[in-house]
Amino acid sequence: MDFQSLLEDIVATLRPELGEAGHVANYIPALARVPAARFGIALRTCDGHEAHAGDSTTAFSIQSISKLFALTMGMREMGETLWERIGREPSGNPFNSLVQLESERGIPRNPFINAGAIAVTDRLVSLFDAKAEMLTLLSSLCGEPVQFDEEVAASEAATGFRNIALANFMKSFGRIDNDVSAVLDAYFHHCAAAMNCLQLARATGFLCRDGVHPFTGHQLLTESQARRINALMLTCGTYDAAGEFAFRIGLPCKSGVGGGIVAVVPDRLTLCVWSPALDSTGNSLLGMKALELFTAKTGLSIF
Ligand code: GLN
Repeated sequence: MDFQSLLEDIVATLRPELGEAGHVANYIPALARVPAARFGIALRTCDGHEAHAGDSTTAFSIQSISKLFALTMGMREMGETLWERIGREPSGNPFNSLVQLESERGIPRNPFINAGAIAVTDRLVSLFDAKAEMLTLLSSLCGEPVQFDEEVAASEAATGFRNIALANFMKSFGRIDNDVSAVLDAYFHHCAAAMNCLQLARATGFLCRDGVHPFTGHQLLTESQARRINALMLTCGTYDAAGEFAFRIGLPCKSGVGGGIVAVVPDRLTLCVWSPALDSTGNSLLGMKALELFTAKTGLSIF
């Protein structure tokens, strides 16, 4: 399949819609300054073939895509014990919602909503320097150095009232072991990692290779752990739009409010799209359209 031409076609098809609809995330001031009219797409196949088009090498804030890598570290380090304080059900609620946490006694529905990722990060903070380990993992997985955007991390720390509330609420149920401020500092930094589409298409490669590192060939996760992450991406990776994503795209996806979405075609390839204008669920509008076009044109889907 000529993936390069296909990605260029998708860019050409969507370019007229750039900047037309949706809004960049504005609840994090540093993200509100990102121009909306950007679009990039990249993929990497299991045999190492790469294709990319549009703004595919422009770095953006990975935001909740980092939850995927935090979960990867958590599963690798803790195995089944990770699930003592985190569920595996779709929430059907916005990513930063507080409502279920009270009736469910501080146990977040899944690791891909904010509360769940904060709970995963707490476990990581107990084990090691979670910020440094995240950069080491991301850099190793994409084969290039990755850094945090300190301005984005500081901006979110200054305005992250809901995340502070979520963390304190979980702490009140005894579900957070470390100081809330240390856990949130790691969480905000993870969200502020700056990467581009090509780097993310590479870095997610272990998810289409049954857990095998895309460059070194070593087993990062077991085959069953990698499959489980894909299952969680399909059911929970795009928050309260997960049903719509499964219906329209049919691939495990993880999105972030920076406008990025990563998607996995198991045993074939991983891809990443980026466009900062979001819909009301916090998912990239053109990113979703691009993935829909990609699956329609290639016939690739898990169904
Ligand atoms: N850093 C963002 C937050 O905590 C991540 C949310 C997202 O990307 N959906 O609100």
